[in-house]
Amino acid sequence: MITIKNYINGELIEAVSKKHLDNYEPATGKVYGLIPDSDSQDVQLAVDAAKKAFAAWSNTGLEERMMLLMKVADGIEKRMDEFVAAESRDNGKTLKLARAVDIPRAVSNFKFYASALQHFASESHQMPGMGVNYTLRQPIGVVGCISPWNLPLYLFSWKIAPALATGNCVVAKPSEVTPYTAYLLSEVCIEAGLPKGVLNIVHGLGGKAGQAIIEHPEIKAISFTGGTETGKKIAATAAPMFKKLSLELGGKNPTIVFADCDFDETVKQTVTASLSNQGEICLCGSRVFVEKSIYEKFKEAFVARVKTLKTGDPQDEKSMMGAIVSKQHKEKILSYIELAQQEGGKILCGGKELKIEGRCAEGYFIEPTVIEGLDYKCRTQQEEIFGPVVTLTPFESEEEVLTMANSVKYGLASSIWTTDLSRAHRVAEKIEAGIVWINCWLLRDLRTPFGGVKASGVGREGGWEAMRFFTEAKNVCIKI
Ligand code: NDP
Repeated sequence: MITIKNYINGELIEAVSKKHLDNYEPATGKVYGLIPDSDSQDVQLAVDAAKKAFAAWSNTGLEERMMLLMKVADGIEKRMDEFVAAESRDNGKTLKLARAVDIPRAVSNFKFYASALQHFASESHQMPGMGVNYTLRQPIGVVGCISPWNLPLYLFSWKIAPALATGNCVVAKPSEVTPYTAYLLSEVCIEAGLPKGVLNIVHGLGGKAGQAIIEHPEIKAISFTGGTETGKKIAATAAPMFKKLSLELGGKNPTIVFADCDFDETVKQTVTASLSNQGEICLCGSRVFVEKSIYEKFKEAFVARVKTLKTGDPQDEKSMMGAIVSKQHKEKILSYIELAQQEGGKILCGGKELKIEGRCAEGYFIEPTVIEGLDYKCRTQQEEIFGPVVTLTPFESEEEVLTMANSVKYGLASSIWTTDLSRAHRVAEKIEAGIVWINCWLLRDLRTPFGGVKASGVGREGGWEAMRFFTEAKNVCIKI
């Protein structure tokens, strides 16, 4: 059994209550660890430590801050195999994906913001003959970072790194479902010599430990990634307290395939875009719209490719899809597959729970599922499923596909597949989403703004956007 501890004031400690929660391995359905069941007392300890550390950390020289963040990145890199195994075991994602994407990206997040802090500059506004203004961008103080289970360390570090880079002290909570790599990160921070209290990691339930972070009056800003319903609750608590809020929420992203696309490449990439990480990526294109003239040909090729995706033990290097993160989430996905059939959908492949022999006999697996024949307004096409389920829908014109693409309450990401550049730009402009990929998916440049519109969130992460979020702008005006 692995016993995870909170990281508060530079030390690894149990929850004040001494209570624990079980940590499950989704691939086996078995408990393999214990997590502190933290509450407001633990959050208070973390806030006290962060407040104490703030004066020194916010005044630490840029070079030293940069070196410390680089050391954290190096520390993760040195223990790469351990982090990869932990992420796969905790989340159910394949070792292959954790090694190719999750952990290298967490390393990049720390390196990127370590470098960014040295280049971050503020504005100056001159009033000829009268005066000059300059903007100070100062750290906020103690900030809260809360992240979900789908890309555990990747998204956790995406918040923590810019918050620390800009001189804030952090109280962070990873998802209680996937706490393991955040725990390893705390070990790395101790080894790297990060000063006590600069980063504090409190484990536990969202409604308890998470809510205590949101409610704490001395936590001045909240950076949250998770579901839209949780985002609503967080906003309802934090907004009347005038906290700065960044909310990265759910999605129901359209993939738009035009007849003039590079066919083979589009089939290959759109299958990846639909089903990577068992469809548990907020950016996955779960609604694929295909121009009618190539619909049948595309459908055949798409389904044939999905059928080649081997779902199995995440530790098996041959597995291309792993386990669903929890039993509860597996049930939710299966209920949507049931709903899709009630709504008139035809299952083209998959559609069932998958039983894997041996070690994973009790694990949570679902066949990658492709469905057609659904009205774009039905619940299956409007609500976020967040699993290996993708719908195919034909369209006849740009106008029609834009109506369908924009019909959902979400607006996170989208992708357009065409060789007509003018059309690509035209459609990109009209899509209601924070991110549009043209002939690609998940091609990420960390300098770009990242986030969604409508019910997909408020604010942007990435590049200077995150550095600005984690600082307060103060204008200083001098009369000449
Ligand atoms: P949740 O909203 O359930 O949880 C996200 C985090 O918030 C977890 O750490 C959770 O803790 C915590 N939490 C839950 N309730 C509260 C509360 N009242 N106060 C404070 N914290 C709370 O999301 P999931 O973990 O289920 O993640 C899946 C969702 O995340 C999907 O909707 C997905 O689209 C979205 N997402 C969005 C991304 C984006 O960039 N826009 C990226 C990745 C995912 P606990 O787990 O312990 O309950």
